[in-house]
Amino acid sequence: MISQTGRAPVPGPAIDPELVRTYSVPGPRYTSYPTAVQFRDDIDAEKLLQDAGATGRDLSLYFHLPFCESRCWFCGCTTVISRERNLADTYIDYLEKEILLLKPRLGENRRVVQMHWGGGTPTFLSPAQIRRLGEIIHRHFQFSEDAEVAIEVDPRRLEHDHIRALRDIGANRASLGVQDHNPEVQRLVNRIQPRELTVRTLDWLREEGFGSINLDLIYGLPGQTATSVLATLEDILSLRPDRLAVFSYAHVPWIKPAQKILEQRSELPGPEEKLAMLCAMVPALTAAGYVNIGMDHFARPDDELAAAQRNGSLQRNFQGYSTRGGTDICGFGMSAISQTPLTYRQNEKVIDRYYASIDAGRPPLVRGYTLSPEDRIRRRVIMRLMCDMGLDFAETGRQLGIDFVRHFQAELDSLDGMERDGLLRRDAEGLEVTALGRLLVRNIAMRFDAYLGVTKGSFSRTV
Ligand code: SF4
Repeated sequence: MISQTGRAPVPGPAIDPELVRTYSVPGPRYTSYPTAVQFRDDIDAEKLLQDAGATGRDLSLYFHLPFCESRCWFCGCTTVISRERNLADTYIDYLEKEILLLKPRLGENRRVVQMHWGGGTPTFLSPAQIRRLGEIIHRHFQFSEDAEVAIEVDPRRLEHDHIRALRDIGANRASLGVQDHNPEVQRLVNRIQPRELTVRTLDWLREEGFGSINLDLIYGLPGQTATSVLATLEDILSLRPDRLAVFSYAHVPWIKPAQKILEQRSELPGPEEKLAMLCAMVPALTAAGYVNIGMDHFARPDDELAAAQRNGSLQRNFQGYSTRGGTDICGFGMSAISQTPLTYRQNEKVIDRYYASIDAGRPPLVRGYTLSPEDRIRRRVIMRLMCDMGLDFAETGRQLGIDFVRHFQAELDSLDGMERDGLLRRDAEGLEVTALGRLLVRNIAMRFDAYLGVTKGSFSRTV
């Protein structure tokens, strides 16, 4: 069969439905370890802030911009739904106040090598508001010449001047939410986004010189079938994005009650159907020449994400996969999470309380976590597995100051079944995740997670 994009399919990994059903269990996405579920409310904010200034490392800034005009029923983000653009003016005022509260704690001469605006919808901000926030940030922080500045862009209600404004503030990477091109699926999930808007946005981004453009798709939404998601994917592939994230829809209505609306509107695809969607899409992505980075992410071989994986410098953090390591993540805005080698800290998730804390002159921290030496060992192992798709036992042990095999004997023994099932290959020196295992890498990482028994009920399924 020749695919609709005209390429002859190259076989992806053989996927045995029974096998994937076995491994479809609730599990973390490991954007941190321990996961945010482990963060504690009884924090010593002063200690966390001292740690924020202790390392002197380069900074990766994150700005959470929570506003969206309407709610997509599948959404798992921390949002504020409103059509009032002037809310963003107030929010930008508070972001600057938060910067002023934190900046003296960070110490002098911290260079920014990366910045990410997520949400919500960063492009809810008008072009003038984008320029204003950009000016504030650049006034308070020193960026390196080659800083990577990535923005999440919503093609709906977007004007060319939004993209020009993003370019003006130094943005050079963009990620677009697409989810699905099928109009019926778009209606069911309350996100009407005609294909022309996505194409027009891509054209504008390329015209303004943005690189490494990522498109997000979701499978497992109501109204989707294996045939329909493949049709969307084939269409998207014809647009040649540099990166594609093909997320399994995370149905967690006990955390995001609005997702219950999806259940009421139409039946959600079951595990069998989701599996059929995955089996349809992976070979098409491989045939189109995309590298399976792991955890739903695919990139063209010449993209820097694929290059970073090849040279062992790929990182994983709250924004997903990243090419910049050795940084402290400094998050601003409601719900934003920050990270140093020793700690995580998270801001207040409710906007009024976020404002109230800043009005009282307090950094708006409400949760956090200090890693134990064992947490740090396990974080390193899990993150290298997620990024490198393998582990060199001697080298990892040397970096961590442990006898790796002895330290993780029980965990390594527990991988026997996964090895038999073809998820990984092992010898005395290390392990390598196979093409099939890349689809299930969080199942492998979960074997090294010391908290899974406690946190298991908090996560969506791995497939
Ligand atoms: S999916 Fe994006 S645009 Fe839709 S509600 Fe969530 S954050 Fe807003």
